[in-house]
Amino acid sequence: MVIVLKQKFEQRQFDNLLKWLEGLNLKTTLVKGEQSAILGLIGDTSVIDIDMVKAIDIVESVRRIQEPFKAANRKFHPHDTVIDVMGCGLLETQTSFVQIGGGNFTVIAGPCSVESREQILDIAAKVKDAGSAMLRGGAFKPRTSPYAFQGLRTEGLEFLYEAKKETGLPIVSEIMNVNHIELFNNVDLIQVGARNMQNFELLKELGRIDKPILLKRGLANTMEELLMSAEYIMSGGNKNIILCERGIRTFETYTRNTLDLSAIPLLKEHTHLPVVVDPSHATGISKLVKPMSLAAAAAGADGLIIEVHNDPAHALCDGAQSLTPEAFAELVGSLNGILQAIGKKEIVPKLG
Ligand code: PEP
Ligand code: MN
Repeated sequence: MVIVLKQKFEQRQFDNLLKWLEGLNLKTTLVKGEQSAILGLIGDTSVIDIDMVKAIDIVESVRRIQEPFKAANRKFHPHDTVIDVMGCGLLETQTSFVQIGGGNFTVIAGPCSVESREQILDIAAKVKDAGSAMLRGGAFKPRTSPYAFQGLRTEGLEFLYEAKKETGLPIVSEIMNVNHIELFNNVDLIQVGARNMQNFELLKELGRIDKPILLKRGLANTMEELLMSAEYIMSGGNKNIILCERGIRTFETYTRNTLDLSAIPLLKEHTHLPVVVDPSHATGISKLVKPMSLAAAAAGADGLIIEVHNDPAHALCDGAQSLTPEAFAELVGSLNGILQAIGKKEIVPKLG
């Protein structure tokens, strides 16, 4: 970090600044020119609140040289992190184990929302047959309208658990409330949705557990903000984070969001955490899910999370972006061509 000091300052003010910085275990070097003075800081500057420094009387401007995230930073952890997702709450014989990151390509599929026991059991078997490694399904739904279907809540989580016991697929579901963590005991991968990416109290609590977290990028958040949210969870001790690019809001109206494909290689340059892509929420249009999935795989994503519904036309949520089980199976088949071309393991459908 570099601090540019104002042209005139009193020695006493400067000494106070130095004392504060040295108290944070930072080494300081002062370079004094004719017109201005620059203070270079060496050490872990991630502990500094840049706005606090800017507010100091004698400070003209501040520039970060190093990124403000540490635990998530590839500089301090050069190898890819591989996240193990276990089918928790299953008998030993049923236990499934999925790895995300480090050369694996993992597909997660299922409906936007759990709508009934029959619906989730049916779709779970179908996405498994097509090659999905995990089952998604929202039980607590963040809906724009309070009058829209809000999810089956705890009952939805129970149905998901039943689907896991039937298929062996680990399950993914979204948490919205910090007081619900215990309800998610049988959920294998807890999703933090786009709208909660900066719910810092929730992130801090998720840092205290050791369950993997699927952290989705916010609708209007930068990559650095996404990484800082991962940092919130990691600094609490939970290092099991999977990042998800799910489209950001732009001026474009033909699609629900704009899929930021460039985020895949860029995030992977800055962090060792796996990056998966959600082409369903990114586009909002089912026919765009396949081309964007192929593009995401080609751009180096570690996996996909895709909405698949038994009967998209009658889905209670996000039907327009949901694939039929047949379209999903077809997509997995064409993904294999890309995976082969980039040297990743092909997905083997579990049919039969
Ligand atoms: C979802 O996965 O169903 C969802 C609501 O996603 P997002 O938070 O990305 O909008
Ligand atoms: Mn959805």
